[in-house]
Amino acid sequence: LPARYGTGDKSVWVEYIALASEYKPAVNLGQGFPDYHAPEHVTKALAEITTGDNPLLNQYTRGYGHPRLVQNLAKLYSPLVGKQIDPLNEILVGSGAYEALFSAILGHVDNGDEVIVIEPFFDCYDYMIKFAGGIPKFIALQPRTNKSDITSADWVLDEKELRSLFNPRTKMIILNTPHNPLGKVFTQQELELIADLCKKHNVLCLSDEVYEWMVFKPHKHIRIASLPGMWERTITIGSAGKTFSVTGWKIGWAYGPANLMTNLQVVHQNCVYTCCTPVQEAVARSFEFELARYNSPECYFVSLAHELLAKRDYLVKVLKESGFKPTVPDGGYFIIADWTDLEKKIDLVSEKDKYKDYRFTKKFAKEAGVLTIPPSAFYSEEHKHLGEKYARFCFIKKDENLALTEKLLKEWS
Ligand code: PMP
Ligand code: GLN
Repeated sequence: LPARYGTGDKSVWVEYIALASEYKPAVNLGQGFPDYHAPEHVTKALAEITTGDNPLLNQYTRGYGHPRLVQNLAKLYSPLVGKQIDPLNEILVGSGAYEALFSAILGHVDNGDEVIVIEPFFDCYDYMIKFAGGIPKFIALQPRTNKSDITSADWVLDEKELRSLFNPRTKMIILNTPHNPLGKVFTQQELELIADLCKKHNVLCLSDEVYEWMVFKPHKHIRIASLPGMWERTITIGSAGKTFSVTGWKIGWAYGPANLMTNLQVVHQNCVYTCCTPVQEAVARSFEFELARYNSPECYFVSLAHELLAKRDYLVKVLKESGFKPTVPDGGYFIIADWTDLEKKIDLVSEKDKYKDYRFTKKFAKEAGVLTIPPSAFYSEEHKHLGEKYARFCFIKKDENLALTEKLLKEWS
């Protein structure tokens, strides 16, 4: 493996998805995906497209994005960022948000460029930056509070530390709001600080907003691209998998100003070139369906957050009753929970991993039958200790599986 790839051969997903088959836990709250059906109009659209009248919908489509999908994305996002988005030059559809992130990072980061990454972070950012020859510079969100009931808003950046990372070598900062794994929804004030630093130091912002519709009131998702002077330096990422609860469809997108998007096009056209046509058509029709009832209580972008709120509250209660200390998330569909009060109950010595959260999550999956993810995977080598006392629980699961979690935890604790 080329040295610049670092430890890119190790992936928490590869390892923990294999553990899901090996341990056969009674409930899998590990990788982030719903264990129930997407809205019917979404799945029906795909079924109709593949067997319908138009055979070309099963053939290659436009490389940078299927026309009907990019038109709908432009329609959705233009009012949200306060700018008329050109569907053909300012949007790129990729194989999941993953490939959109890859094209954005490989398209802009050059040898020796520094990229500011906020910890904990979705693990692939680090590897993608290194693939591009860039240097990740990490800064950790930390729970700066004395309260015992912590929410994701209590996890904050140190302003001085953040300012000190910006320098003439800084090319980009990666923002993720709502955040995986904390569920933090960055506030207007926090985003303004990042925006001001980007403008002052001529830095790009790559904003990963795949959980944009999963925000719990009174919190609000703010797109950094909509702040003054930010459209021209921001590339925003979205995901059909997260938006419509079809993570296996692997369609995502990036949008931003045409001059920045051309670099993403170069990477994409020489990597995957074009994405699955019938799935893009189905995502386009799904957006049309939701745009026709946009902002109504039935609109999936509204109802999903509502549905998730009840699941969040239930799992938070279950975790507290079992001796965990969860950080209550304001968005997204993950909870990180501090398990240190349970340490005496569990034999961590028999597991061999270097980091304690790997040992805890493995033992916990074997003993309690609940699979979770070790958050140290979302930290740089030097900061992994900050994630070691937590486990990440995914709560976009059937109510019966959340009830089963309660039962398993009661039996175990
Ligand atoms: N960014 C974040 C923060 C994620 O949690 C994920 C996982 N869904 C992705 C990007 C990748 O999304 P996709 O499944 O659309 O590739
Ligand atoms: N984003 C999802 C998670 O955090 C899926 C991860 C992945 O597919 N690599 O669980």
